[in-house]
Amino acid sequence: MDTDKKDNPRVTLGVTRFGDVGVYAKELIQEGERIASFDGAVYSWTDVTESIPNVPPVLARDHAIQFEEFRARDSNGLARYANHSCNPNTGIKNSFDLVAMREIEPGEEIVWDYAMTEDTYWSMNCRCGSSQCRKLIAGYRFLSPQKRLEYRNFISEWLISSQRPYLGEAVVNFALHRYPIPSEGNSFRYAVVDTDPENINVITEERILNILNQIEQKETAFLLTKNSDDAERSG
Ligand SMILES: [Zn+2]
Repeated sequence: MDTDKKDNPRVTLGVTRFGDVGVYAKELIQEGERIASFDGAVYSWTDVTESIPNVPPVLARDHAIQFEEFRARDSNGLARYANHSCNPNTGIKNSFDLVAMREIEPGEEIVWDYAMTEDTYWSMNCRCGSSQCRKLIAGYRFLSPQKRLEYRNFISEWLISSQRPYLGEAVVNFALHRYPIPSEGNSFRYAVVDTDPENINVITEERILNILNQIEQKETAFLLTKNSDDAERSG
């Protein structure tokens, strides 16, 4: 692992309580300070059924952040090792910078909310331990209006400028109830989402079934599941 000039000298790598790599404050960090940047390799994919390859040792899919519908960027330095929390102390500025949302104490882990950048057919189970933990997290389209307000000014520009709407818990809850799929041993599963912007306000059972049927016809698509033990996005 290399550090680069965009890494804040007051942070360093550490080991989380789960044994994963994380980024930690060595000294007090002020609100508004940049922690690190996604300033590395850019990856592209071509449609909603594809994503970035997750080839060791780079594991780009685990670490790069989305900044356009079909593009994501990794970091040269520490940014790629910052983990998710549903109660984050950092957020995204200028599409690529991790910036402190509040004062951060020495020893605190640097965490941000992956829904601040991601809006693919992706989801993961979360064990961040926060009282606000959503347990199952997915793209920005599933980030509630309350959370969007809480994160205002710390959400990636591409999500703000494309005015991605909130699809509501109805889709997720219905899918979980109707289609409980066992674990595939894969941390990443495709969320059940509606990609047709004209229909976002019409979340009826029929509409959801149509979406699910479309997805089921694609071999690469998995349905959202609620298995809580195996799926962590670490690093
Ligand atoms: Zn959580």
